[in-house]
Amino acid sequence: MKLNFELVPDSCWYSNLRSILSPAQWDVVRREAYARAGGRCMICGAPTRRLEAHERWEYDERNAVQKLADVVAICKSCHEVIHIGRTQLTGGEERASEHFMKVNGCTYAEYRKALGEANEAHRRRNLVPEWKLDLSYLKKFT
Ligand SMILES: [Zn+2]
Repeated sequence: MKLNFELVPDSCWYSNLRSILSPAQWDVVRREAYARAGGRCMICGAPTRRLEAHERWEYDERNAVQKLADVVAICKSCHEVIHIGRTQLTGGEERASEHFMKVNGCTYAEYRKALGEANEAHRRRNLVPEWKLDLSYLKKFT
């Protein structure tokens, strides 16, 4: 799937880069992503003047390592899909499901299946008591 859900484990208190970096540092990381995007969502390709920065994490469950893989610039619609838990709470799921199906060219059944898999991965990752953060991605900015 080109666009998929990315549910962050509940125990990852510091997984939001904005809470780790100073505002000035975060600004550098964010702006680099915007520059790479060139005015288009890096997931669906839609041209937009209002890009949002999104942190992509990879999870190594065996070693309990949560690694920052990328910071991408994406549109609001894709961001709503990625953080589906929050979107469901604010009543935006129908819109998010439509965007998911459009971007991935899939059916509602496939949307439900992907959501089930994401929830299952989330449940499993929540069993890890403590994630170690790998922020080596940020080295290129220093
Ligand atoms: Zn998008």
